[in-house]
Amino acid sequence: MKNVKYLRCVTCGRTQEALPDATTCVCGGVMDVVYDYDFIRSHTTKEAISASPDHSMWRYRAFLPVEEDTPAPPLRVGWSPLYDEPRLAKELGLGRLWIKDDGQNPTASLKDRASAMAVAKALEAGYDTVACSSTGNAASSLAGNAAAAGLKSFIFVPERAPLGKVSQLLIFGATVLSVQGTYEDTFEMSKAAIERYGWYNRNAAINPYLMEGKKTVALEIAEQLGWRAPDYAALSVGDGCTIAGVWKGFRDLYAAGFIDRLPKLISVQAEKTCPINRAVETGEPWQPMPEDTLADSISVGVPRNPDKAIAAIRESNGLTVEVTDEEILAAMRYLGRTCGVFGEPAGVTGTAGLMKLCMAGKLPADAEVVSIVTGNGLKDTANAVRAAGEPIRIRPDVSLLGDVLG
Ligand SMILES: *Cc1c(COP(=O)(O)O)cnc(C)c1O
Ligand SMILES: [Zn+2]
Repeated sequence: MKNVKYLRCVTCGRTQEALPDATTCVCGGVMDVVYDYDFIRSHTTKEAISASPDHSMWRYRAFLPVEEDTPAPPLRVGWSPLYDEPRLAKELGLGRLWIKDDGQNPTASLKDRASAMAVAKALEAGYDTVACSSTGNAASSLAGNAAAAGLKSFIFVPERAPLGKVSQLLIFGATVLSVQGTYEDTFEMSKAAIERYGWYNRNAAINPYLMEGKKTVALEIAEQLGWRAPDYAALSVGDGCTIAGVWKGFRDLYAAGFIDRLPKLISVQAEKTCPINRAVETGEPWQPMPEDTLADSISVGVPRNPDKAIAAIRESNGLTVEVTDEEILAAMRYLGRTCGVFGEPAGVTGTAGLMKLCMAGKLPADAEVVSIVTGNGLKDTANAVRAAGEPIRIRPDVSLLGDVLG
């Protein structure tokens, strides 16, 4: 990979060769992919990327840690729509607001970006089996992307994972282990199993390439805005890989001279499960918290990538905000009704936090904001019904309509 220099540990600074099945540093720290931006600049341009007929995350191959001849995995991942929402911007008192609907990925979440990368790297490394633990979406995206590429998958999910996500796993033919414990228990079990059986590891933060896949959402946002960053990017945070990836994407573009400023990140977590935000707010090291939110994808009490996430929020001069489950459900309803975008609870948590900041007058009136919807609402219909209510039940007799419609 001529565009990649090496991997560097975010904890101790040690470097190592960027092997396709690299995991963590000898010190246990998370590795970061370090690029040669001079090489990237001399081998691609904004114009060349904009002219690419490849409408997937692989249009950004110049910025991705894959060999030149590595085939893009079969599923179409990325190039999700960025909707301009002038009505919503006005209601919230913002200059501009865009909704990036990443629920439109093939397995219906932003995690597809990481899983497509994992599959590409597993194939480079010559593995035939991939594995991960997940609150649900990393799992369903890995299972789908692996199936399309002809790889076997072993998936560990906490038993609370919503049926929509578990059904995806089963349809994609994964071997599904529904672990009777928390996400933390699930993660530890998968880690032990992966060591024992030698599968390709797609666990958040252990595999350094996942974040590189996730960063393509930021590359896309910048390109879709005409190669510039918004003032703010709002999103939900669980393990912290997504927000760290978003920051990496904008920083890559900045380092390559493709954009001339960086956005501020808005990190949104659930009120009772917010270890990353709390660390940013207090300046103390992060502390474990209970898993206590209906937004299952971000119900992460022991985050796997806290260091990169906390650094990203701080470096961007970002904001943190916590929301209640009721505020998440309200955002779900609101986005559905004003934009026609149906997000799962964690998918709309970024928007919930943005709404809360706007109502508290914390953002300038001319602010240009992108809110990333990270997962589709059909994955968790039970909570959608909680958010939106029940239909009107009626016998098949049109004369009864007058009564119920009033
Ligand atoms: C995984 C996930 C998140 C959070 O991403 P992290 O990398 O865990 O911080 C947010 N929303 C959805 C829908 C997810 O699946
Ligand atoms: Zn280290």
